[in-house]
Amino acid sequence: MLEVSRLSHSYGKHQALADIALRIERGEIVAILGANGAGKSTLLQTITGLIKPAAGSAIHFDGADIAGLPPYVIVERGIALVPEGRGVFGELTVAENLQLGAFPARAREGEAQRRAHVMQLFPRLAERMGQAVRTMSGGEQQMVAIGRALMSNPALLLLDEPSLGLSPLLSREVFRALERIRADGVAILLVEQNARASLDIADRVYLIESGRNAGHGPANDMKNNPDVQRAYLGGARTASAAPL
Ligand code: ATP
Repeated sequence: MLEVSRLSHSYGKHQALADIALRIERGEIVAILGANGAGKSTLLQTITGLIKPAAGSAIHFDGADIAGLPPYVIVERGIALVPEGRGVFGELTVAENLQLGAFPARAREGEAQRRAHVMQLFPRLAERMGQAVRTMSGGEQQMVAIGRALMSNPALLLLDEPSLGLSPLLSREVFRALERIRADGVAILLVEQNARASLDIADRVYLIESGRNAGHGPANDMKNNPDVQRAYLGGARTASAAPL
């Protein structure tokens, strides 16, 4: 459904992405692992049109080249981003944030069912529809951010560090929600600092180093790859490591 090839972007003289290639199929969770500054956020921002990719980059979504299209057009095609830091409107209520997510034309039909589905996914939002989002915990705000993205009726959901700053309990809730979203047929591209948790739910993984592809494969193989264990899992996985 999404096929990226030769994707490059430079901030001035600094090349943040160099000839990145990746693909995602419908209903897959694909995780991206890379050190700080590897280019992961830049990758999500170029796919969603927030940053213009360099000439020659190709981003095909459902067969059409979307490279360089403006963000609102890309949302209409069915790609939604949950940005790092969530990007929710703190002064607005949960209900208002969800309503804003349903602004794209593709989201108008079925808005009420989608809202009900978001509340089923995150029951604690249902209890707080009238609460200002800035007064909610980090985890609850992350649920609002994911809920708002789902309200746009995406076929592909991109998430940038969704567990950043969350308690282990709330992180688990967010990761479980991602598995349920995949079960609904939505594809997920996940950038996460919690490599272990993302490997546990991902179908496939791409490694990015200094803006370049550094390997890819099924998540189960990657978990057992000594280089991946050393770089992202803090050494070999031990039997005592708590599963998410
Ligand atoms: P992190 O895990 O730390 O969020 P990342 O993998 O998401 O990192 P990016 O934020 O995509 O990495 O940044 C890739 C590189 O581009 C970094 O070296 C960063 O310093 C640089 N960079 C990012 N945004 C800008 C900008 N607006 N102007 C200049 N350089 C930038």
